[in-house]
Amino acid sequence: MKYIADYIVVGTGLTGSVIARLLKDAGKDVLMLEKREHVGGNVHDQKHESGVLMHTYGPHYFRTHSNRIWEFVNRFSNFYSFKAIIKAKVTSGLENWPIAANYIQKHVGEHWEPEFTGTPLNFEQAALSLMPRKVYELFIKEYNEKQWGVKATELSADLCKRFNVRADNNPYLTPGHAFQGLPLQGYHQLMLNMIHGIPYQLDVDFLKNRDKVQARKLLIYTGPIDAFFDYEFGRLAYRGQRRETVFHENQKLAQPCVQVNTPMHIDGSQIRRIEWKHLQNPSSPNTTKGTLITTETPFSPDNPDQFEYPFPDSPNQTLFRRYHMAYKKLNNIMICGRLGEYRYYDMDQVIARAIYLAEKLL
Ligand SMILES: Cc1cc2nc3c(=O)[nH]c(=O)nc-3n(C[C@H](O)[C@H](O)[C@H](O)COP(=O)(O)OP(=O)(O)OC[C@H]3O[C@@H](n4cnc5c(N)ncnc54)[C@H](O)[C@@H]3O)c2cc1C
Repeated sequence: MKYIADYIVVGTGLTGSVIARLLKDAGKDVLMLEKREHVGGNVHDQKHESGVLMHTYGPHYFRTHSNRIWEFVNRFSNFYSFKAIIKAKVTSGLENWPIAANYIQKHVGEHWEPEFTGTPLNFEQAALSLMPRKVYELFIKEYNEKQWGVKATELSADLCKRFNVRADNNPYLTPGHAFQGLPLQGYHQLMLNMIHGIPYQLDVDFLKNRDKVQARKLLIYTGPIDAFFDYEFGRLAYRGQRRETVFHENQKLAQPCVQVNTPMHIDGSQIRRIEWKHLQNPSSPNTTKGTLITTETPFSPDNPDQFEYPFPDSPNQTLFRRYHMAYKKLNNIMICGRLGEYRYYDMDQVIARAIYLAEKLL
């Protein structure tokens, strides 16, 4: 079988689907290829046999500051309001995450000076310039050592931009975002609606079928950039999560919020516990008696299907730049998305980026 179209989009995640949608809306001839057996990439969700909806590749909380992105996603689904609350299990019990001001007041005191004041050269120094050592050691250090599998001093200082200490006690993960919610019928349905009317083929690995694919105008590839080049310069490192999901039939709810992080080594290598029932729409609650919990444990995957977080250090950035330069020498191809750009993007960021790229093409 040959796959021929003006625009061939490899990957049906948010990046590929947004670009395909905008090209199709502009009257272009588009075909999508997907190696997995479902569309939607990493935002895919599914009903567990208990009837509880779960996100296949880890919890996805949608939030954005942008009116435009909110209007765009609402084209494909209505949303119900949902603001994530996350707790961290530390020695004093379950505490707010991000760390609340009253935790610091109670456990460190009103007045504290940052232990590190220069230009941070690594993650540990960056964290100690933002928060007291006690807080760093309980909430941050071991969490990141579990997440990345290396010592905190080996991680990049930039990673610290993703952590903050609250000046207040607001319990929500992202209280400042104007729009937050979850799609009424789930992400899978949202993604099906987004690509409605665009032909697509599942179970087709582009890399194993290159000779059968003919993009007359442009190939848009959203898979891993190093895999595209057959790992010619070496492999980019990623972390993934092993997920173990258990239905507890005699428990109504097991934890106070959707996500409980277990940042300390003493709690084992698992890093967080997700209780899916907290995500359900309050106006049509699932009546399942028990509760469904997924435990996530970080690891270093070889299989590209399990690549989740690009590794935050400079050797990998240097390697990525080598691949990126090789890509820039090619014609009629665009490599993009979280795997193509070797970059963590939230959903709203990846949609904004895909809209920008599609508009450049049109
Ligand atoms: C654990 C985790 C939790 C997250 N939680 C949140 C959250 O709470 N809020 C938020 O805003 N964002 C979250 N994100 C980010 C969100 O998942 C990404 O922004 C989004 O999925 C990126 O979409 P993408 O299309 O670039 O990549 P992907 O979704 O990975 O899509 C790429 C697609 O390409 C396909 N593909 C790859 N190679 C080939 C090939 N050779 N042939 C054919 N198809 C191929 C893949 O199968 C996949 O379907 C989270 C990410 C992770 C990893």
